Amino acid sequence: MIIVMKSGAAKKDKDEVLKRIKELGYKPHVIHGETRDVIGAIGDERGKAVLQALESLHGVENVVPILQPYKLASKEVKKESSLVKISDDVVIGGKQVIIMAGPCAVESEQQILDSAIAVKKAGAHVLRGGAFKPRTSPYSFQGLEEGGLKLLAKARELTGMPFVTEVIDPETADLVAEYADILQIGARNSQNFALLKKVGQLRKPVLLKRGMAMTIQEFLMSAEYVMSEGNQSVILCERGIRTFETATRNTLDLSAIPVLKEKTHLPIVIDPSHGTGNHRYVAPMCFAAVAAGADGLIVEVHPDPEHASSDGPQSLKPAKFDVMMAKLKLFAEAGDRTL
Ligand code: PEP
Ligand code: MN
Repeated sequence: MIIVMKSGAAKKDKDEVLKRIKELGYKPHVIHGETRDVIGAIGDERGKAVLQALESLHGVENVVPILQPYKLASKEVKKESSLVKISDDVVIGGKQVIIMAGPCAVESEQQILDSAIAVKKAGAHVLRGGAFKPRTSPYSFQGLEEGGLKLLAKARELTGMPFVTEVIDPETADLVAEYADILQIGARNSQNFALLKKVGQLRKPVLLKRGMAMTIQEFLMSAEYVMSEGNQSVILCERGIRTFETATRNTLDLSAIPVLKEKTHLPIVIDPSHGTGNHRYVAPMCFAAVAAGADGLIVEVHPDPEHASSDGPQSLKPAKFDVMMAKLKLFAEAGDRTL
């Protein structure tokens, strides 16, 4: 249920509503809107009738049920798009399309610094790079772990770019959060509920990837796990789903953009690198994603993809990324966005 406060309702009225929600055994979540606040009462839906009684409280406009199984992520609760603040000058969900770029994994100091300098020069806003790698094979490169986080921090110091990196388990989440600006939850972990709850308790934005066989509803339920723990800074990321098609690594579901825009207020980022698995297909999918209204892109760029320890075939060389970015500007402008 959501309790819609009257516009300009007094703080003491809101506090009373919060108190009553807690007394009834629900978790209150205040969502600040442009003209009025709404308070979500999250918990067992069997007590709907009791919550309905809050309508009589001072300052309450009305009490309405949320029809979708996801609540805090739903557009029913919040009509305006959410802005997720990454740093003083990087905000996702507004007019500017945010570009995250860098290698799949941090491999060495030289590699991550070269990548950071190159993507920044081309106009990227956020550096990407995995330090903990969730590989399909246990024999593949698993990442530089804390050493990789330190190198990412060095790249941030050098370029001023915040960075996104993956968190693979609850045990190392605090460590990653000490360094990272955005915590990435990978496709393989997108229904690891213990991990989702853990990042929900941290105070860092979360880039949540869609699982390989996840419906849009399941995707939003995963976002709900993070939000219900108190972290509202969730960025959704479509990175391709598994279909019968083998010409591409995954099938990039660009229709997820308008569908999600209809269902949620959370920003949406597209990953055309994992979505296609082939560097030749990355630029066209970047253009299409921005044309369809994506709030950002996450693109793999590597200075020497032939020798990359992971995902070389889908990584752009810096020169190709630069050309893609120049052209992307036109698509952004056509959609009344900036880069
Ligand atoms: C990655 O971003 O390098 C990655 C492993 O992505 P995904 O979880 O989408 O496969
Ligand atoms: Mn990768």
